[in-house]
Amino acid sequence: MNIKKVVIIGSGTMGSGIAAHLCNANIPVTLLDLKTEICVKAREKIYKSKPPLLLDKLKINNIKVGNISDNFDVVKDADWIVEAVVERIDVKQQIYRKIFKARKVGAIVSSNTSSIPIKVLSEHLTDIEKKDFCITHFFNPVRYMGLLEIVKNENNDLDKINKLKKFCETELGKGAIICNDTPGFLGNRIGVYAMQVAMTEAIKMKLTVEEADAIFGRPMGIPKTGVFGLYDLIGIDLMADVLKSFIKELPKTDEFHFVGKEILLVKKLIQTGYTGRKGKGGFYRMNKTGATKEMQAINLESGEYASVKKIDVKLDKVDLKELINRNDKYGKYAWSVLSKIIKYASSLVPEITKEFNNIDEAMRLGFNWAKGPFEMLEEIGVKNFFNKIDSFDGNKFLYNLSKTYNEDFYGERQKYTNIVTLGKVKKKAVNLDGNNSAKIYRFNDYNIVEFTTKANALDYDSMDALKKATDKPLIIINESMQFSAGVNLNYVMDFVKNKDFKAIEKFIKYFQDTCRHLKFCDKPVISAPSGLTLGGGAEVLLQSNFVVSHTNLVIGLVETIVGLVPGGGGCKEMLWRWSQTENGKSDLDYAPLKVFDIIGYAKTASSPDEALPLLYLTKHDKKIMNRNNLLLEAKKLINNHKDFIPPNECTFKLSGDVVRGKMYKILDKLYEEKKILEHGLVVGKELAYVLSGGKTNSKNVLTEEDLYSLELESFMKLISKKETQDRIIHTLNTGKPLIN
Ligand code: NAD
Repeated sequence: MNIKKVVIIGSGTMGSGIAAHLCNANIPVTLLDLKTEICVKAREKIYKSKPPLLLDKLKINNIKVGNISDNFDVVKDADWIVEAVVERIDVKQQIYRKIFKARKVGAIVSSNTSSIPIKVLSEHLTDIEKKDFCITHFFNPVRYMGLLEIVKNENNDLDKINKLKKFCETELGKGAIICNDTPGFLGNRIGVYAMQVAMTEAIKMKLTVEEADAIFGRPMGIPKTGVFGLYDLIGIDLMADVLKSFIKELPKTDEFHFVGKEILLVKKLIQTGYTGRKGKGGFYRMNKTGATKEMQAINLESGEYASVKKIDVKLDKVDLKELINRNDKYGKYAWSVLSKIIKYASSLVPEITKEFNNIDEAMRLGFNWAKGPFEMLEEIGVKNFFNKIDSFDGNKFLYNLSKTYNEDFYGERQKYTNIVTLGKVKKKAVNLDGNNSAKIYRFNDYNIVEFTTKANALDYDSMDALKKATDKPLIIINESMQFSAGVNLNYVMDFVKNKDFKAIEKFIKYFQDTCRHLKFCDKPVISAPSGLTLGGGAEVLLQSNFVVSHTNLVIGLVETIVGLVPGGGGCKEMLWRWSQTENGKSDLDYAPLKVFDIIGYAKTASSPDEALPLLYLTKHDKKIMNRNNLLLEAKKLINNHKDFIPPNECTFKLSGDVVRGKMYKILDKLYEEKKILEHGLVVGKELAYVLSGGKTNSKNVLTEEDLYSLELESFMKLISKKETQDRIIHTLNTGKPLIN
């Protein structure tokens, strides 16, 4: 089966998301809707989407648009027709009648339904039509969510389904899991249950919205939107519809009925237009009085809003054992929620899937959880779990486990795919070493370093792990959302608070030493990023010998946003890359000015395609659609470079005062036009100082060492300034930069 042309019917949120993602894979798509204008608008939305649905805006040219009355003929040429219209059985079935009349023999037809069983959707299809019909349930936003659930019917041509799965894995980069035809399939069945448990337990235990989100969030390896934040994001009214559908579909004995009941407060919120972020607000709202804005949270008992209270649960890391054993309301809440989720998920095996670890994968790929329920059980420990739990009546999975107490019950990971993933390899690898910020694994003839801090922020220990791991070829890779959000600013600010600037200098020097070591050691170092790769994270990548990047990369040297300049070799490496371009070779000032522009404006790229023209990546670096493949591709690079020779030291010719003068002119203009303020000018001048080669002149040749020294000098000057410290504190407190 060769999928070369796709038609998507329905150009709403999902239809356009799927279309955009097919474009990313260079597969031409025609979007059809009731009217062509709807598709035209959808195409514009795709083009302007933020975060972008497209890897590169030019890919939009892969989308053609039309309407189902005049342009239905396109279906004749399609290899795959995806139906993504409104969630109504009659509308969908009517479309299938049209499609099956028009499609070419053997073309696949699938529905994106999230709740209608395949047996209902396909009830009027002939056996031959059923052979080619299935559900392909993508998650929103399609580019970013890894999960694709495929639901078969009993007549399917299995070979075809497997080929479709393979296509979606390799070309679209999805974690494609074949599921049984049960309500909500895997992700939504467990995900929605988990949200309901988290909400109802919070109400029962009288936790505030902020407290519940502070626990059912990062401390559990769940995105920080928590439960109430996620409710607001999805839409409180939409969630109510989803619940109704589950209540209708699931047997009365299903635990879902205990947590899916209508809640009075929720009903009131919907009735008054508080449907979440898209409405007037929801569990959280932004209250505007005059020019002041304040984020408020609802009181779950009274329904009144009050300013949001920051909850510090004093947990830096995901440590489920520690969390559930806490002797406070947070520990009790965590245990109650976690144990119920584990009980529910395990009670559904094998009904919803034969392989329990498919459920974990669905939660990771579809809800961005760090671990699924069974991995959580594994982390808590089987004995521990059974010591704490009260009952598990009728739960066969738990009953069997309670007979063996087998701590290694998990066995093989990620059974749904044949790819040799990091998750699978880690289980077999030797745990070589590690510290609070990173782990080092040895697998066959190479090492892996996995950062383990929040957002994989970097500190002394992260660098230490990298430095220790270069006795073999090294792959820097991880399973969490971000490659690295940069240097740990909390770590730096602790030194600032103690006025220990010597310690900061020592750390930055060690950061530089490590990056130099990565670049020049005699074994290849490969960075395999996905997600945020910012600041220090980008510097690690820039000084690795090879890069294999997932397409959902966000990369940038963004230090100027907090009033700093890159201090770990970022300026140096970018200068070198730009000096090697044609313009850079013929014009001494071309590279410094270009890099001044990129770092000065903290330009980021949100895909490898966008990173290439900025030279954050080079044409030698690889990009791949399926994140699961990162390790395998990185390993291929090691195999292809058995005779690896480290690069030569770079030397730099910079014109000193001359190019610095040009940069100052740019800064003066920006200052005059009030595009930058006082401190922006100071930061800009420090960046100009580094990129012009400091006190050098065009006769001097600078070494990498010289550039490192300049970066350190400017970094230290800036970190000692109150204005920079204020910016960092503001960013740490709000998650947003201070613009002034
Ligand atoms: P949507 O309301 O955003 O878009 C539906 C589109 O279908 C609209 O553009 C509408 O004009 C069009 N349409 C309606 N009747 C049509 C017809 N007869 N012919 C052609 N087009 C028609 O809906 P959505 O959120 O994109 O959902 C689409 C499907 O995907 C649904 O089955 C839904 O359950 C499922 N789904 C949604 C999400 C999500 O997060 N939104 C996630 C997974 C699955």
